[in-house]
Amino acid sequence: MTTNHNQLTIHEAHRLLKAKELSSVELTNAYLERIRRVEPEVHSMVTITDELALKQARKADELIAAGSNISPLTGIPALIKDNICTKGIRTTCSSKMLENFVPPYDATVIEKLNACGIVVVGKANMDEFAMGSSTENSALFTTHNPWDLSRVPGGSSGGSAAAVAIGEAVYALGSDTGGSIRQPAGFCSVTGMKPTYGRVSRYGLVAFASSLDQIGPLTQNAADCALVLNAIAGYDNRDSTSAPHPTPDYTECLATDLKGLRIGVPREYFVEGMQAEVATAIRTAINELGELGAGVDWEVSLPHTPHALAVYYIIAPSEASANLARYDGVKYGFSYKDAENMWDAMQKTRQYGFGAEVKRRIMLGTYALSAGYYDAYYLKAQKVRTIIRREFDQAFEKFDALITPTSPTVPFKIGEKVDDPLQMYLSDVCTLPINIAGLPAISIPAGFADGLPVGMQIIGKPFSEETLLKIAHAYQQATAWHKMRPNL
Ligand code: GLN
Repeated sequence: MTTNHNQLTIHEAHRLLKAKELSSVELTNAYLERIRRVEPEVHSMVTITDELALKQARKADELIAAGSNISPLTGIPALIKDNICTKGIRTTCSSKMLENFVPPYDATVIEKLNACGIVVVGKANMDEFAMGSSTENSALFTTHNPWDLSRVPGGSSGGSAAAVAIGEAVYALGSDTGGSIRQPAGFCSVTGMKPTYGRVSRYGLVAFASSLDQIGPLTQNAADCALVLNAIAGYDNRDSTSAPHPTPDYTECLATDLKGLRIGVPREYFVEGMQAEVATAIRTAINELGELGAGVDWEVSLPHTPHALAVYYIIAPSEASANLARYDGVKYGFSYKDAENMWDAMQKTRQYGFGAEVKRRIMLGTYALSAGYYDAYYLKAQKVRTIIRREFDQAFEKFDALITPTSPTVPFKIGEKVDDPLQMYLSDVCTLPINIAGLPAISIPAGFADGLPVGMQIIGKPFSEETLLKIAHAYQQATAWHKMRPNL
């Protein structure tokens, strides 16, 4: 573990570019070189777009040379999760089904980042269709955790998190349906935010579970997270779930003390079976927030939390089963060629195109939505969802933020849970309730247990991203965990 690594934050890279101490082409070449060196061990990238990156870097350098008013993201290398559509660049969702799919359009977040003049170095590996917690469900290959190559980086945005931790990109985009930004951010010791449902447009995000999915940043610290959120947040009339709320400047809330802030610690998140060292690290981090001036109440209870996992595994598969019905071998994606008739073609396309976990979800979802079981499962889950959301609403009458561990354990070994779906699902117990309630939450590095990263989750009321960034930034000004980098 080391703190004096050579990776730049967005803020540092921007300062160097603006002062013309470094060109975007030099910066981009340094990152491409780094990718060539570490990629054979980490495997975080499905596609490396070196030609495009250098072209975008030259364009950024022209803008800078012309003295244009550049964005803080101009000329800075980024990695995009491979379920976010990029025009002309393969977008696979790490699935055989979309292995050769090249979108004819950009997602809204990509349009917005392109307007800032960013440099895209590639597309990040993930669990197939974002279903998983380890990237082991990728149909292409497994990403390794740069802190310990025998362990998982988390998932489903494992490629995005590993790449930021090891310096293959300055920052990355991920998506989070039940924890897929925060859990890998915790496992790789980077900062990852799932914004409020509706805060960032999902137009061009390949749908998994539409009432839960949200795009967000993975960065090296909260201040960088604010910059990326500034660029991607905002209303989009192409996404009917996009919120019309105005977008503040998220860098303006970054403070160094937390006086007057009320923080609650819900006891249900220190779940049974949680690794003791993880709980200790989080308690220490919370004490630190107290020293920064926040008032901490350790006795908060959100009694319906234990039901969140069951609710999630009804709702998410139900929505997935509907969303994934479009992969029929006709419109786009993989198509089985030697079929006897139309039905056979559809069946074999789905049989060979989807991996085991995706099929498991489709079956679970189809079952929960079927006429005889809809009321017992789907409708019931929606009712409990409402109760969980109300419980959070009540807590936020008293608190500005709630703090929990991001995951109950440190990163586990590759292969350890892959044959035990329930164990794998438990890896997201602390993150799923947040998506169920549509809330924003951020995971930040909060120490190490047995030499492996521990993430702390900060949860806020809807559209309180500023409060989360403020707490995260103050903590990062007072601690150095987020500056630690793996040796590789
Ligand atoms: N691990 C959870 C799942 O498998 C969450 C995934 C996600 O957030 N995309 O569904």
